[in-house]
Amino acid sequence: MHFPSRRPFDPPFVAALGLFVFSLIWFAIGLVHVWSVPIIGWLPLPLMAALSTYECWRTSRSPALDVATRRFWGRFGVASALLIAGSISNIVDSFGGAVITQNIGVRTQLIFGAALAMILWTLLRLPTWQRSRSDWIRFALDTGIVALTGGVLIWHFTLGKLATTSHSGLAVSLIATISLLTFVKVLAAGAGRLDRGSLRILALGVGLAASTGLLTPMLADKPHLTTSLLAFPVSQLSGILAARRQRFNGPAAAPVHAAGRRFSLVPYLAAAVLYGLLLKVELPRGGPEAMLAYAVTGLTLLVVLRQITTLRDNSRLLDTVDANLEQLRAYQKQLDHQVTHDPLTGISNRPAWSGEISNRLAGGEPFVVALLDLDDFKVVNDRYGHHAGDALLQTISRRLREAVRSGDTVARLGGDEFTLLLPGLDERGTEELLRGLLAGVQRPVVIEGHDLTPRISVGVTAGRPEDTAGEVLRRADVAMYAAKRAGGGRWTWFDTVMDQLADSDARLGADLRQAIARDELFLVYQPIVELPHGRLAGVEALVRWRHPDHGMIPPGIFIPLAESNGQIVELGRWIVGEAVRQTAQWAREHGDDAPRKVSVNVSARQLSEPGFPAEMAALLARHDLDPSRLVVEITETAVLGTGVALEAVRRLHAMGLRIALDDFGTGQSSLSLLVDCPVTWLKVDKSFVDGVTTASPQAVIVDGLIGIIQGLRMEAVAEGVETAEQADRLHRAGYRYAQGYHFARPLPATEIALLLSMRETRQNQLT
Ligand code: C2E
Ligand code: CA
Ligand code: CA
Repeated sequence: MHFPSRRPFDPPFVAALGLFVFSLIWFAIGLVHVWSVPIIGWLPLPLMAALSTYECWRTSRSPALDVATRRFWGRFGVASALLIAGSISNIVDSFGGAVITQNIGVRTQLIFGAALAMILWTLLRLPTWQRSRSDWIRFALDTGIVALTGGVLIWHFTLGKLATTSHSGLAVSLIATISLLTFVKVLAAGAGRLDRGSLRILALGVGLAASTGLLTPMLADKPHLTTSLLAFPVSQLSGILAARRQRFNGPAAAPVHAAGRRFSLVPYLAAAVLYGLLLKVELPRGGPEAMLAYAVTGLTLLVVLRQITTLRDNSRLLDTVDANLEQLRAYQKQLDHQVTHDPLTGISNRPAWSGEISNRLAGGEPFVVALLDLDDFKVVNDRYGHHAGDALLQTISRRLREAVRSGDTVARLGGDEFTLLLPGLDERGTEELLRGLLAGVQRPVVIEGHDLTPRISVGVTAGRPEDTAGEVLRRADVAMYAAKRAGGGRWTWFDTVMDQLADSDARLGADLRQAIARDELFLVYQPIVELPHGRLAGVEALVRWRHPDHGMIPPGIFIPLAESNGQIVELGRWIVGEAVRQTAQWAREHGDDAPRKVSVNVSARQLSEPGFPAEMAALLARHDLDPSRLVVEITETAVLGTGVALEAVRRLHAMGLRIALDDFGTGQSSLSLLVDCPVTWLKVDKSFVDGVTTASPQAVIVDGLIGIIQGLRMEAVAEGVETAEQADRLHRAGYRYAQGYHFARPLPATEIALLLSMRETRQNQLT
């Protein structure tokens, strides 16, 4: 035995070893020689039980162990203490009468039974035994099988042959057998931080002690010996060794939770043993009984073999399911991280940061928000390349983290924009922190051999109770631009005067209201293609606004604006109407060559309008359009918010429209949503596609996702594919549909029509 211990041979341990060796020698000699003072051989028993109690008690007080493990050893100590009493009682049984006897009195048996029951209970109290109902049922059945087999064996080989058949002796043997089985079960299932080696030693001790019962027939003519003289020293020594091992090894490294094994050999072994016994008894008799015994045994063997084959198959199947679930969980975890963290710098990203602001606002705690933007970052990117730019962003993010306090949050909003959330600071405290932060961040740095001195502009504003996350950020942004205009490399507090200067949003909103009437809006259509050949599979409608004074305004500007002021409902109605009209026109003019699917983006506000599905039905009917040609693109956040939107999506799906989940992977709870929402298409966001050709977490997710998407019987579209390399890599990963500048930019409807008629001509030439 290996003890990585201090002082392995201290006096109590030496004493225990001495007593054990003495007992073995005493028993061995007693087999051939009659001792004149037999009681001497009994004295080690209570002494060893006392030593075992002492060791368990010391282990239960060891400060290095956790509570559950210490409690286990405390209870085990109580069982040992019971055995001190039990052994003394046993001595009284043997020597208290007129003649020396081997018989164990009822009192002694009760004490032994109590000690074993205590051990059993201690084992069952271990944390691993908080298991499922069917685990318990399986355990109970195994116990019944082993108890029955053990009982028959003990009866057949020992008690049946003894004149003094002792029923309580049988009971003690059975409890010992059940304790042993429990040890084995606990060992297989893992036992918290309990040392497994210790458990093994204990199991061995209990097993050996119980099996000394098999020696009973040998001792029939030797009243000066009993099996207790062996059983005791063996079990007590195992207790001492186990307790010391646990104490010197400390707690087990980590709680091991092995998966519950579904297949067990125990019942089969037990049946085999009993059938062996049956054959042993019946075969010498010959005749029809022996034939019957043969037949029953053979039949059982066949049934068992058949059973095992099925069980094996089932358990293999279950293992596969387990492995898949495990994988799914791992991907969800990666996705969760991806959703809340910026891949380049590892700090929080915009959604995580907005969420935290909203929480703080809801909690009513005071906080300050600072928005930081690198001055002239574009110059670094252009002059030294994106690599240098990325390295600079990483340096800045590290320096920011060093400059803030432990409860502050640093996030990257995208590009060269960072933000700080500083709870519990007043104006003076904030300025003190920012002074140190600017000094720290604006230190010179060498990036890829170039000496750079970063400068940042900071906009600062305090959160107000009536704020939203977007409003706080807007004020910080306005203040940040003021800092930039003032020359950069400084911070500026937000002031309401700044709002009057920057009320362009309001003006833009007013213009947007008239844009529909003035016919300034139009749709462009971006092809969605099949991989690898790039054949047209469908198009996505994207809105454009040609402003009379400002020229083309990107949807990234005016869609969020329309969403915040409610204009999106009217705007969206126009977009959907126009897309349906165009789709019907293509279908009329190009028949089978028309795009099979036309996608339209529908925002959350639109979906939540009570009449939306009905409006859609009327529109499709008016243009006589097959609903399955239309794909409604929604985002996760749209359907997560209210039940109304989810209900609308279900109704659209029931009408025959297809549903696509847009920007997949950037939202909140990704995978779980797919269970509730009838989604056919999943648009994997550009941020994943961007990383697909490098060894990035995004690439891992792209690879893993496709299996899950196919498993859920959905189709994936990879968004924002910009290079042939990305397209090739995606195709090899199993993606069949893609969209992006590599294939086509969004095109006016006329150019799509041109594409379609080119295809028709080509086909006509072929036929
Ligand atoms: P989205 O729905 O994710 O649309 C895809 C956006 O990615 C489009 O930008 C498209 O032009 C762009 N894109 C496509 N391929 C590539 C590529 O290879 N590289 C890059 N860098 N970009 C690519 P767009 O048209 O500016 O639209 C931006 C967002 O505005 C859309 O994102 C969508 O959320 C919203 N939007 C656009 N049109 C509509 C509309 O009609 N209704 C609503 N509710 N939202 C719209
Ligand atoms: Ca879209
Ligand atoms: Ca998208």
